[in-house]
Amino acid sequence: MKIGIDAGGTLIKVAYVEGGSRKFEKWPSSEIDHLIEILNTGHAGDQLFLTGGKAEYMAEKLNSNDGISIEFDATYRGLKTLMSEQDIDLDHFVYLNVGTGTSFHHASPQGQERVGGSGVGGGTLIGLSKLLVDMDDYDEIIRLAEKGNRDEIDLKVHHIYAGRPTPIPGDLTASNFGNVLSGDVSAMQAEDKLQAVIGLVAETVTAVGISLAEGFETNDMVFIGSTLLDNTVMKDIINRYAGLKGATAHIIHNGEYSGALGAIL
Ligand code: ATP
Ligand code: MG
Repeated sequence: MKIGIDAGGTLIKVAYVEGGSRKFEKWPSSEIDHLIEILNTGHAGDQLFLTGGKAEYMAEKLNSNDGISIEFDATYRGLKTLMSEQDIDLDHFVYLNVGTGTSFHHASPQGQERVGGSGVGGGTLIGLSKLLVDMDDYDEIIRLAEKGNRDEIDLKVHHIYAGRPTPIPGDLTASNFGNVLSGDVSAMQAEDKLQAVIGLVAETVTAVGISLAEGFETNDMVFIGSTLLDNTVMKDIINRYAGLKGATAHIIHNGEYSGALGAIL
């Protein structure tokens, strides 16, 4: 069996590939030593391929490994495989890996280049949720956020123009969290704050993605990373912002496993 491991800042993604069958699994990065122990004892006969920020650490502690890939190269190989399996046939696009932080890439027939990064990502989602409403369970956060309403928290363009004609759609966010002082802070519920946190992350990364897509003269933005997982609030914002700019957002199923899969390829 071939085992590809993408050891990221928050989650370790593992792909088990044997013949035509494939299985994916996630581990919290805090349990890295437990995973290493399982691999050392239970997978001695298997081939291990590593990537991600914690790959070197794993390589030091594993009894053996069959190679370490540069994270960006492995992710691109895995992403191209997943895209072709999902009939997303693009040869020129930008892609965003929304992990703990976010990295931005440009893909062309010549390959990929990393064109930027932002500290705003899934770690921001968890960290601000903890500070604002004392929640840090990802699944609970995204579920509760679906019930929220961020109208009182975010300042919209139409708030500023106050009924006068707006040069851009009035419903766009002018300032994330910018409306807080105008509202009744005591009436703002946990679900509203969580939705506003996801809004901040989603709108920030999508705005950068759209600018890059325009700069590289493509309409296609591809999104991967565990921050998108079951995250309806985030996906809706991405699709809406992309649509407003005439761009298309492609959210890849199992995209968070691109690196783990690509490490094997
Ligand atoms: P990086 O690539 O930046 O080193 P990473 O590879 O660990 O980090 P991802 O796994 O792509 O990053 O995404 C991590 C984010 O996914 C978390 O910050 C969180 O917002 C979200 N997430 C989704 N599912 C979970 C989960 N079960 N536990 C913790 N975070 C989760
Ligand atoms: Mg990662």
